[in-house]
Amino acid sequence: MTAHLISARLRNQLVHSRRSLATESSRGSADPDPNLTSSTPPRRRTLFRRLFIVSKYTLYLSLTSVIGLVVLTSFLFIHDLFTYTSRHVDRVPMNPLALHLERGGPKNLPIARVLVDDDEDEDMHRIARDKPRLVVVGGGWGAMGVLQTLHLGDYHVTVVSNETFTTFTPLLPSAAVGTVQIRSLIEPIRKIVARLRGHFVNGKAVDVDFGQRLIEIECVGNGERVYIPYDKLIIAVGSTSSTHGVPGLEHCFQLKTIADAQAIRRRVMDNFEIASLPTTSPSERKRLLSFVVCGGGPTGVETAAEIFDFCQEDIMNYFPKICREEVSIHVIQSRGHILNTYSEAISQYAEDKFKRDGVDLITNARVAAVTPEHVIYTSKNEDGKMEQHTIPTNFTLWSTGIAMNPFAKRVTQLLPNQFHKKAIEVDAHLRVKGTPQGTVYAVGDAATIETSLVSHFLEFVEEADQNKDGKIDFDEWEVMVNRIKQKIPMAEDHVSKAREIFTMYDVNGDNALELNELVKLLEDLGNKITSLPATAQVASQQGKYIGKKLNKLARRMERQGQEQKMETAQPSAESARNLILIPDEAISAPFRYFHLGSLAYIGNAAVFDLGKYSFMGGLAAMYAWRSVYWNEQVSVRTRALLMIDWIVRGVWGRDLSRL
Ligand SMILES: Cc1cc2nc3c(=O)[nH]c(=O)nc-3n(C[C@H](O)[C@H](O)[C@H](O)COP(=O)(O)OP(=O)(O)OC[C@H]3O[C@@H](n4cnc5c(N)ncnc54)[C@H](O)[C@@H]3O)c2cc1C
Repeated sequence: MTAHLISARLRNQLVHSRRSLATESSRGSADPDPNLTSSTPPRRRTLFRRLFIVSKYTLYLSLTSVIGLVVLTSFLFIHDLFTYTSRHVDRVPMNPLALHLERGGPKNLPIARVLVDDDEDEDMHRIARDKPRLVVVGGGWGAMGVLQTLHLGDYHVTVVSNETFTTFTPLLPSAAVGTVQIRSLIEPIRKIVARLRGHFVNGKAVDVDFGQRLIEIECVGNGERVYIPYDKLIIAVGSTSSTHGVPGLEHCFQLKTIADAQAIRRRVMDNFEIASLPTTSPSERKRLLSFVVCGGGPTGVETAAEIFDFCQEDIMNYFPKICREEVSIHVIQSRGHILNTYSEAISQYAEDKFKRDGVDLITNARVAAVTPEHVIYTSKNEDGKMEQHTIPTNFTLWSTGIAMNPFAKRVTQLLPNQFHKKAIEVDAHLRVKGTPQGTVYAVGDAATIETSLVSHFLEFVEEADQNKDGKIDFDEWEVMVNRIKQKIPMAEDHVSKAREIFTMYDVNGDNALELNELVKLLEDLGNKITSLPATAQVASQQGKYIGKKLNKLARRMERQGQEQKMETAQPSAESARNLILIPDEAISAPFRYFHLGSLAYIGNAAVFDLGKYSFMGGLAAMYAWRSVYWNEQVSVRTRALLMIDWIVRGVWGRDLSRL
């Protein structure tokens, strides 16, 4: 009844409005001036005005949309017109030596001194002829840091990687369950290298000769081996997963590469599909839907959170409900808490969230073995006795830390002073210890900056002991502190209270440090310095540091080269080669790491550890987490793809096809 009354009133108003309009137009007015219809009641006039405005803007919007569509279609058409050209290449200039490689080196292998695309155009030819050879091994965060910072034309750049793309590793857990697509996380290395007119070799570094500056590559595809010569070598090969000697790890998944994420996604989908079959027994269904994550660090926690999200958002809607009910997610952690490298508040928040979500957290437990059907772990019972437990499962993720990459291991075997078990030891300038000065650098997971102060004992004493009395008084200690800060910036915080430390180690109170007191002091300080974490943030900052250093070196070489040219009509090849060996100390300060914070996704919630402050929460934190990763993308293309993925998942859910 009310509805009828309202619609009748609206009809009257409309009729009246139309009449008013007719009256106005009969008076020859294009504009509906309300003064001209003074007999119309004010409320109707207002309604009429509003209707007019709405119609006007609807028309504008429609017209603009049509024009926009026409422009966009024309743009695409014109773009396609120029993309599909009949361009062709003919008689590409090429140095014959690129096809007939000389052999040599310790294993008498072909040496690729000239590459097939070195003479492709004038720029490439000039770079190949005049510029030092920079070889970057690896295509991950560290390598990208270098490549994105280098200036065009300063070096003859060659990137060697066993994968043809760089991967945005932080979103691998999302890709493993289809929250984002695999292709949104990768960018071809060739596209990145093109900016520098550089070269890409799809191969795996297997050996190196530091004396002759040759790196041995096993080419992907044909398995052939070849040497690539370098003037400067940057090792950025990352790490592998640590095994801790646990038997049966071949039955586990790992999550370090795109191939790992693809394999996980297939297994997760298989498990749900098989669990839904009418022939599957209840006990087998339970096993298939039991997901075990070994390791409570960020990768393990994020993967468990993504599997939980997947179950909540997609399995619940499209699979038999029994599949959701039977899902169990277990996280086995050797320490007392998950995310134990984050602040205590964050660990607690993540644990509470997992408990609410029904994720089974098993802390203070050690995985003893993995079989195709079970994970066996031990933990102490309430009486403090060790007990063995078994979880039936068809999916085990192994994510318990990192181990040395095989090539990095080979490098440490070749050098006399490399003792670190997990990475290549580098100095504060990221130079690999033991290699010819200024020729080899290592960055990222493959490298660790030396923290031992005692190994520089003699050097420190030599410089600080100015009166040569074999003791270090307080003034000399201050000199030594400055030297320590320069040599190992990571020790800076530990030596900031110079007077306090001096007094503490001056055991006999003679206001000077005897050599044995000094050794103890340096040993203790060295033990307190913690190595930098194996994170993308560190790798990227180190890569950028090397890139900037190389840019500065190039400028310096240019200047010195010009001076030499003035002195001698033709600088010798040898002197040009020596320029690349200008000491790093003359070019740049040691590497300093700036911690920008750690973040982790914990299932429609995220946590931020910003050092002094922590931030954690639900959707707002999750969007902040997404924004950070979106911003960190290596290209605009992957940014666009990621954005589309997040929208598609939000609107239509994840793709449930098993490919
Ligand atoms: C699932 C996951 C999530 C992560 N999340 C975060 C995060 O949120 N934040 C963060 O800071 N860090 C994160 N990390 C850690 C971060 O990815 C690593 O610290 C970072 O990738 C290290 O960079 P890198 O350049 O040293 O090595 P990588 O990025 O691993 O790159 C190594 C490269 O070397 C290539 N390579 C390996 N061996 C050879 C060889 N012999 N010859 C030639 N090329 C070779 C590989 O193909 C690869 O391209 C995560 C890691 C994983 C696995």
